[in-house]
Amino acid sequence: MGRAFNFSAGPAVMPEAVLQQAASEMLDWHGSGMSVMEMSHRGKEFISIYEQAEADLRELLAVPDHFKILFMQGGGLAENAIVPLNLSQGGAMDFVLTGSWSQKSLKEAGKYGQARVAASAQADGFTTLPAPATWQIGADSRYVHICGNETIHGVEFHELPDLKALGCDAPLVVDFSSHVASRPVNWSRVGLAFGGAQKNLGPAGLTLVIVREDLIGNALPHCPSAFDYKLVSDNQSMYNTPPTYSIYIAGLVFQWLKQQGGIAAMEQRNIAKAQLLYDFLDSSSLFENRVAQDCRSRMNVPFFLRDESRNEAFLAGAKAANLLQLKGHKSVGGMRASIYNAMPIEGIQALVAFMREFEKTQA
Ligand SMILES: *Cc1c(COP(=O)(O)O)cnc(C)c1O
Repeated sequence: MGRAFNFSAGPAVMPEAVLQQAASEMLDWHGSGMSVMEMSHRGKEFISIYEQAEADLRELLAVPDHFKILFMQGGGLAENAIVPLNLSQGGAMDFVLTGSWSQKSLKEAGKYGQARVAASAQADGFTTLPAPATWQIGADSRYVHICGNETIHGVEFHELPDLKALGCDAPLVVDFSSHVASRPVNWSRVGLAFGGAQKNLGPAGLTLVIVREDLIGNALPHCPSAFDYKLVSDNQSMYNTPPTYSIYIAGLVFQWLKQQGGIAAMEQRNIAKAQLLYDFLDSSSLFENRVAQDCRSRMNVPFFLRDESRNEAFLAGAKAANLLQLKGHKSVGGMRASIYNAMPIEGIQALVAFMREFEKTQA
């Protein structure tokens, strides 16, 4: 079997061109006589890889100069602790609950300060987003946390909330693990954004943190040194050994994104890809997506068979058609198609064609 269309939620599909380039450079990177994974992180070869990756990412995401880009480890889940360790100063934090990931963030932050619920869509089964005007944010809030794209529930903020317009001066923290680089970011509304790399940027092991400079330097005394944004930032993400190979691959992905026309071009493609899938789901008598139209994720599309007894047949047929990893998250059930940047539109076309055929033969 050749390469399949891979709908995994993460670790997820990579651009094939990037895998090929990494393969060709595996044994000897640019005549250095070494693989990237064998290089000192302090040597000139790796420093050049690192600097290029950072510059390309800053350009792609249009990150303003007063934000630092940190390449860390620990994944999105570690940031659920690292963010409060650095930003809470032991005070109160407000969370908008829109699905499993923001729920996890709330729970973890409670270990480091008072973690409050500003709003929740739980009563709707996390199929909607609470309107920002209804959020209850305390005047003493150290920050407001949202998950920009809920990977499991398939809900996405299509516009970041303007906290200032709500009369709130606290910084906005965004978990953008599963939609980073799929769309532009309005940095004027953001204090800090973080995300694991394995959904849309590269291999697992690298965690991206982009943080406004003035928020750095307030870590709690018991914050581990390797997770103190000030130490990480002052040492160009090399306070300790960074995930060098993951940074290198992410750097290749950034170059690939630039060749594709950058983030605005990716966004247009992602809109077209999601539209194709949602249009089919909405017209189907067998399949359905339950998320409110205005907050449907462009990256993660959960869907259900109205007749759940056909789930196993569907997954087996999909696998035989080279359409992999479509099983939904166990907490939600059903199916999920994750259609990140590296999923070509041909993958969605193949999925829709298979679903159409499946619907016909099972009718
Ligand atoms: C995958 C994911 C995480 C967790 O990432 P880990 O790298 O497993 O810690 C956190 N938040 C969101 C939105 C995710 O999609």
